[in-house]
Amino acid sequence: MMLRSGSKAKYDVGTSVMDGSTIQYNFEARKGEECHPTGIDIETSRDSSEGGGIVKKMMAQPTDIDIETLGGSSEGGSVKKVGPKVALNKMKQDSNSKHPTDIDIETLGGSSEGGPVKKTPIGSAPVIALEGDSTEEQPYQKVVVAAHFAVVLLNVIVASQAIFAGTDSMGMVEVVGTRVLPIIATIYASIVVGDFGTGVFHWSVDNYGSLQTPVVGSICHAFQGHHVSPWTITFRKFANNVFKIAYGCAIPLLILTFLPNVDPYARLFLGLFINWWLVSQELHKFSHLKRTPPFIKKCMDMGLILSKKEHGLHHTAPFDTNYCILTGQNNKWLDETHFFRRLERIVYEATGNEANTWNEEGGDKVRARAMEM
Ligand SMILES: [Zn+2]
Ligand SMILES: [Zn+2]
Repeated sequence: MMLRSGSKAKYDVGTSVMDGSTIQYNFEARKGEECHPTGIDIETSRDSSEGGGIVKKMMAQPTDIDIETLGGSSEGGSVKKVGPKVALNKMKQDSNSKHPTDIDIETLGGSSEGGPVKKTPIGSAPVIALEGDSTEEQPYQKVVVAAHFAVVLLNVIVASQAIFAGTDSMGMVEVVGTRVLPIIATIYASIVVGDFGTGVFHWSVDNYGSLQTPVVGSICHAFQGHHVSPWTITFRKFANNVFKIAYGCAIPLLILTFLPNVDPYARLFLGLFINWWLVSQELHKFSHLKRTPPFIKKCMDMGLILSKKEHGLHHTAPFDTNYCILTGQNNKWLDETHFFRRLERIVYEATGNEANTWNEEGGDKVRARAMEM
């Protein structure tokens, strides 16, 4: 469903949630409009017509509204298909109210018949899609993340000790040539391959799985919901943002830690490679910040970390490109070679599962490309 507010901006309804007598709408600015994808929440309540800067109206008294669905009118018009989640939310709305809930939006600053419109700047509030989730950082989340870094550090120290063992009798040049340079090369390789890993991981949780999926269900849900309300991630502090990834890193990291006789360079590479999965989620957050701190901006400009521009290319339906979120350096070749279309074809042939991107707006071209592979 698309809402037009005044003459300045248009919004797609990303989600609408019906809870008892309250309907919450979350909006996204349309591609190409001036406003960036952000959100406002408007509540409609049976109980009250007053208060708090929130639109509260009698459900039985539709008010004036400018709803423009792709099919024309707001009553029974077709709704733009932007993916399975939106369709689900539309169904929820339909099952609870015969008429589309009427909302009067006057470019976020206007008034409506039933009460004052809450002047909520777009994107100023997080949208929590998962029950029990919160953008509040909890002490246990800090403990989980601290434990992750402790185990990574342990592997780096163990690897370094093994690498530098027996170098006491060497000269400086020999140590640099035979130890330091290989260490730098290993760290660099872990970043390049790590970026590739974040792309494969992001592609997999974007396109397959749901909340019901064992182990990674909450991660699938979070990544897929991120397309609907991308600004929510910016409300999360570090540990709150990355602790779910720490759970995903835990098993491979512990296996690496307790595995005997691992080559020290392999231990260094794998420990960092797994660590970059977690770090990438924070760099991903940086790419969504409205105001980027100067140091982070500098790192983006130098290509050291994922840039806003690079990741912005992912955030357009059908969400089929630019999956890498550590540095983004692998995105170009992966997209040019249709790497993910090939994987989607393999998954489809093997399991019959369609990638979510095939069913997004504009996804028919993605599906056709995959079928050519
Ligand atoms: Zn995504
Ligand atoms: Zn994003």
